[in-house]
Amino acid sequence: MTRSYDVVVVGGGIMGLSIAWSLARRAVGKIALLERAFLGAGGSGKSGAIVRQHYSNRLTVQLARASLHVFQQFDQIIQGPPVFTRTGLAIVVHQNDLPALQTNLQMQQELGIDVHLVSAQELAELDPNARLAEDEVAAWESEAGYVDAVQALSSYAQACQREGVEIQEGVEVRAIIRQGNKAIGLETNEGRIGCGVVVLAVGPWISRLADSLRLDIPVQAGRTQVALFRRPVEMSRRMATCVDFVGQIYYRASAGDLLHVGSIAGEEAQDLVDPDNYSEVADASWVPRIRQRVQRRCPALHRCYGRGGYAALYDLTPDWHPILDRCPNADNVYLAVGFSGHGFKFAPMIGQLMAELIIDGQFRSLDASPLRLSRFAEGQLIKTRYSYSVIA
Ligand SMILES: Cc1cc2nc3c(=O)[nH]c(=O)nc-3n(C[C@H](O)[C@H](O)[C@H](O)COP(=O)(O)OP(=O)(O)OC[C@H]3O[C@@H](n4cnc5c(N)ncnc54)[C@H](O)[C@@H]3O)c2cc1C
Repeated sequence: MTRSYDVVVVGGGIMGLSIAWSLARRAVGKIALLERAFLGAGGSGKSGAIVRQHYSNRLTVQLARASLHVFQQFDQIIQGPPVFTRTGLAIVVHQNDLPALQTNLQMQQELGIDVHLVSAQELAELDPNARLAEDEVAAWESEAGYVDAVQALSSYAQACQREGVEIQEGVEVRAIIRQGNKAIGLETNEGRIGCGVVVLAVGPWISRLADSLRLDIPVQAGRTQVALFRRPVEMSRRMATCVDFVGQIYYRASAGDLLHVGSIAGEEAQDLVDPDNYSEVADASWVPRIRQRVQRRCPALHRCYGRGGYAALYDLTPDWHPILDRCPNADNVYLAVGFSGHGFKFAPMIGQLMAELIIDGQFRSLDASPLRLSRFAEGQLIKTRYSYSVIA
């Protein structure tokens, strides 16, 4: 083999970069990161990158919380410009879902998160654009916001390079070359590459490599859509991020007075696609439907200006939670895939945890073992309190 590395990270999305950086910080030797296209070409570059801590499970709350702290201080920890914009988050549910909401709020509060129920009046003070109907209730998570995903990718890449990681774009891994229970190399479009350890952070493309691992990895590529609108000038600039369970949408402000709106209806699981051959344009029939739903929450948006939309991929697992594990039949191959449309906010902690699993042989910062691959065969799927999968 012409080239050889102690660690090869496959996939140049936010997870691959965060993992490569965390490994490099722990001096594991020579590291390469291989990306088939360009950094962020998968879901990461198109992400809403909302960072909220509202989840049904302690593990995901803790992953989000610890990662939020990194995003808040990104310019110091990773370096480069700040990437996090704090907006606060409104979580809106029908009053029938109040018990589930309260249970989640209590768990979040126990973990130190500033979140509480708010009245319609209080919500209007926090976000003058948002309206609540009489049969709806809202909670407010004050620290939430969103990340500039493309800047975060770029800053992580530069941080990796400062730590000596070799980033190679345009290099596609086509197969994993095994000898017994070990991977000894990778077959790529640029020839064979030798490896000590392999980390697969390839998002929905994991199915392409599952055969050479002789492993069933239950991750499917689902097409999701985003609509973009230019906000009218008379709308308040103070705009919270919102997860609207009643309208089954999420939205957040975006650069240039745009609004980024997506669905939380789980439609992606019905639109399974070939990750190399899907329409990247939003459907003409979908955008007006989303527009109606967002106008219901923010009436001032009845004068918003359409700016089209786009489609991207989620890497869906059966329980909409990721897989963080060592491959059961290849000792030196690790998996960090299946983030199911809500992983960006976890990225800093995923890097740290994967570095722990690889170097220390176990997760140390948090017990992430519930995210093991075998949970699907064991019937130990992660449960959520909501029927809206992406909110998990
Ligand atoms: C529209 C949208 C909105 C989202 N909104 C949010 C949000 O608000 N909050 C949140 O937390 N999360 C959100 N997410 C989810 C989040 O963006 C993803 O979970 C996260 O970006 C996944 O990162 P990744 O690195 O695992 O995968 P990806 O970004 O898909 O990266 C995988 C990379 O691997 C490369 N690759 C694949 N196969 C190979 C190979 N064989 N050889 C070399 N390279 C390969 C691909 O080209 C790709 O660049 C959203 C996602 C989308 C699509």
